[in-house]
Amino acid sequence: MPELPEVEIARRNLARWLAHQAVARAEAEPTRIFRGADRRRFVRLRGRLLFARRRGKTMLLGFEHNQGFLSHLGMTGKWVRRPAGHPEPYSRARLTLTDGTVLHYCDTRLFGRIQPAPADALEQLPSVKGLGPDVLLDDVDGPRLQAALGGSRVPLKVALIDQRRLAGLGNIHAAEALWRAKLSPLRPAAGLTAAEWRRLAVGIRAAVRFALGQEEDEDIRYVEEPGTPNPFRVYGRAGKPCLRCRTAVRSVRQAGRSTYFCPRCQPGRRKR
Ligand SMILES: [Zn+2]
Repeated sequence: MPELPEVEIARRNLARWLAHQAVARAEAEPTRIFRGADRRRFVRLRGRLLFARRRGKTMLLGFEHNQGFLSHLGMTGKWVRRPAGHPEPYSRARLTLTDGTVLHYCDTRLFGRIQPAPADALEQLPSVKGLGPDVLLDDVDGPRLQAALGGSRVPLKVALIDQRRLAGLGNIHAAEALWRAKLSPLRPAAGLTAAEWRRLAVGIRAAVRFALGQEEDEDIRYVEEPGTPNPFRVYGRAGKPCLRCRTAVRSVRQAGRSTYFCPRCQPGRRKR
C-alpha cells in the first residue's frame, strides 16, 4: 500500500513526465475513484503542469488556466507512463501528452481517488486542510511530534498513522520508525519522554528516507504485491529474528491492522 515515500516518488515521476509536455487529452471511466466529484471536469483538462505537490499521502496537481486535481492512491493506485496504444490493465483514467505518451492512473481495487478542482483551491479541499504536519515537508522534530501526538491516549502506532495528527505514515513506515526508535507500538502516545519523542522523529525520517532510496524503477511496486521483495527491517517479518538482537519479531493486531515489533528492543514499558 502506498505511503509517503511511494507517493513522493509518484509525485516526482508525474512532475518529470509532465515537465516538457502538455496534456492533449484526458479520459476517465465512470468508476468510484471520483467519489461524487465531477469526472467531466477531469476529462476537460488540457495544457501544462504548473505544480505537483504532496501533502502526506495526497498529491495535488495544478495546471495552467487554474485547472487541477487531487490524486490519492488509496491501496492499489499507481500512475504509470506508457507508449501510445499500449493497453494497460486496470487503467481508470488517462492523460495523453502532446508527444503521444499516455499517463495511466491504474487501480485494481478502486480505493484511490481523483478529485478535480481549480488549481488555486486544491490546498483548501477539506481532505487536505484536515491533514496534520507532513513528515518530510514540515520538519517534524521531537517537540513538533510531541505536539502532534502527545495528547493522544491511543497506542503510539495507532496515533502515528492518524493522518489528522501526522500526515504520511501508514502501517509499514509506522512500524519501521518505531523499530528504529526502539519504542513499543503498544505504549500510550501520551507517555513518552522528550528524549523518546526525539528518537522517534529520527526514526521516522530514517524510515522514510530509506524507503525513498529503495525505488529504482520507474514503475513502483508495493510490498504486498506477489514477488515483491520485502526490504523492511521489521514490517512483515513476524517470527523471523530481529535484525538487531535476533529475538523473534512479534505481530499483533492494532485497530484492525497488523503491527510488527521486537519485544526485546521495543519493550512495553520505559526502561529504567
Ligand atoms: Zn530486537
